[in-house]
Amino acid sequence: MREFISIHKTGFRLLKKIHHVDSAIIPLHMLEIFLSLAQIYAELFLTAELIDTLLTKNFTLAMKLAAGLLLVNLFFGVAVHLIKRKFHGMKNKLWILFYVWLREKAFSLDYETMEKPEVAEKILFSERTADINGCLGVLLYHYYNILQAILNILLSVSLVVYLCMAKPIAVEGFIGSLALPLPSTLLFTCVLAGIILCSFKVFRYFSQTQKEIFDSHTGVENKLGYFINTVYGNVKAAKMIRLYGMKDMIFENTMINEKQSMAYFEKMCDVGRQEGDANKIVNSFFTIISYLLVALKTVTGAITVGAFTRYAGALNQFGNACFAIISSNGELRKICTYMKEFLAFLDMESLHEKGSIPIEKRDDGEYELAFENVSFHYPGSDKLVLKDVNCKFHTKGKLAVVGKNGAGKTTFIKLLCRLYEPTKGRITLNGIDIRKYDEEEYRRLFGVVFQDFKLFALPVWENITAGFELQEDRIWESLQQADAKELVSGMPNGLETFLYKNLEDGVEISGGEAQKLALARALYKDAPVVILDEPTAALDPKAEAEIYSHFNQMVEGRTSIYISHRMSSCRFCDDIIVFEDGRIVERGSHEELLASGAAYADIWNAQAKYYVC
Ligand code: ADP
Repeated sequence: MREFISIHKTGFRLLKKIHHVDSAIIPLHMLEIFLSLAQIYAELFLTAELIDTLLTKNFTLAMKLAAGLLLVNLFFGVAVHLIKRKFHGMKNKLWILFYVWLREKAFSLDYETMEKPEVAEKILFSERTADINGCLGVLLYHYYNILQAILNILLSVSLVVYLCMAKPIAVEGFIGSLALPLPSTLLFTCVLAGIILCSFKVFRYFSQTQKEIFDSHTGVENKLGYFINTVYGNVKAAKMIRLYGMKDMIFENTMINEKQSMAYFEKMCDVGRQEGDANKIVNSFFTIISYLLVALKTVTGAITVGAFTRYAGALNQFGNACFAIISSNGELRKICTYMKEFLAFLDMESLHEKGSIPIEKRDDGEYELAFENVSFHYPGSDKLVLKDVNCKFHTKGKLAVVGKNGAGKTTFIKLLCRLYEPTKGRITLNGIDIRKYDEEEYRRLFGVVFQDFKLFALPVWENITAGFELQEDRIWESLQQADAKELVSGMPNGLETFLYKNLEDGVEISGGEAQKLALARALYKDAPVVILDEPTAALDPKAEAEIYSHFNQMVEGRTSIYISHRMSSCRFCDDIIVFEDGRIVERGSHEELLASGAAYADIWNAQAKYYVC
């Protein structure tokens, strides 16, 4: 019982969410239920009347009843069809809605929570199970089935009660006494209870078998999905596969999983078929008994011949409705079990507060940022990546953060941008802990190009404006500063050109070109602090030189933080911070650091052998 309550609590919460998004979906389903039931029972009554009228040879009335039957069918048929047509669009909407809710929630979580493996697992689990077992549309369908079945049971049982109460004209012998109200009530109760019990037993047996098969099938679909979507559907992977001749190896791996997957679906189909057959047998058995009982009432004169069809039909409806309730409830149990996980994900709280203090708007763009004894380790790892970092920098300067790969430079920036919170210590803006500021406003201070930047399969202008107000002249200005003006002017539709071929027949761009566009996007944001994490890594030496040559103009009036493991590329910065193994080991100008002959000078000299500085 507790499980039953928990399942339907989840189900009702989801129904409420669906209703909140589209208040027409549930009422339309209800309307369809009423119309369908009205059609079924109007047909049962009219057919019974028609047969009785034909038996009395009143053909004029019979014609009228036949016409009425036709009209009723036409009216309800058309009305139900029109509503069902609307459902097609709704089902699609509900399907998309599920993914939108998942993604919206994922985006609303802070980055640190989002990056946790169990969070990613929750999202993947929800998506996979929804793909296999159906989603919100299927949930709605089963509730719709249950409600229709409950109403159907109420109607059919009231007809059966009426039937039981009908007294035979002549009570003769054993048959006649069976047709009396009390014995026939007992007989019909046994039949109805028998239908419920047998339908339940059949369903329980087969759903248990299906569950056992499903439980033994974990992981295969994920692996198959990986090969089909990530390996076969990825152009970069296709390059690798050709170059290394990996086709057979990947094909074999796919086929191993494909065989297991096929075996699973075949088994499921077999069980489904057997369940259908078992239901047919149960149904036929009870239909025969029901018909015999109704016939008993008919031959004893308790009801007319026409009424036979009405009551036999009602009993049939009862059997179908019982089966619908049991099977839909079972399906809901399956769906709500994983939907519970989905709702738990939607209820998930961010690890960190979003803050509320507004950022002081300064026309002069002067801000002071400071790290105070900041140490940090990534979630799920004990290794301190930043150790007791202390530094202060005023805006409007050109700061370089240098150090070997893995020294902690990018992590330092991620903390500054509030993608993670310090494990120890604090970061301040104008003396106030950055956690206290409104998160969105705080992030607006930064225009960042990370090494793993991402552009989207959208027009160039949308990639550059990134949701900020569209100002075409400023887009071109940013493109020029990022040395990408010529690139975009040469594209078939200029700023309207789509990138990549995922959505439209867009242009494919090189890594260096993409990096320039990402740079333009950061500049367009017009943030007081511009952060470039290895911004020239994918650029050729000429393009790199171009960027350097107008770097001053690019970041003019703003603070720039420039991260690189190449010392030569930081020479033009007035202030250089050197990271080593998570600590700041040196700070000063290029000349000062070289003169000190310590870490910076060591790396500089080591690199000087390979680069022309
Ligand atoms: P840098 O930018 O100087 O090359 P990073 O800040 O990227 O260095 O990385 C510093 C250390 O943190 C490295 O040892 C790296 O492996 C580790 N690291 C980076 N990102 C993560 C992460 N998401 N989870 C766990 N460890 C990470």
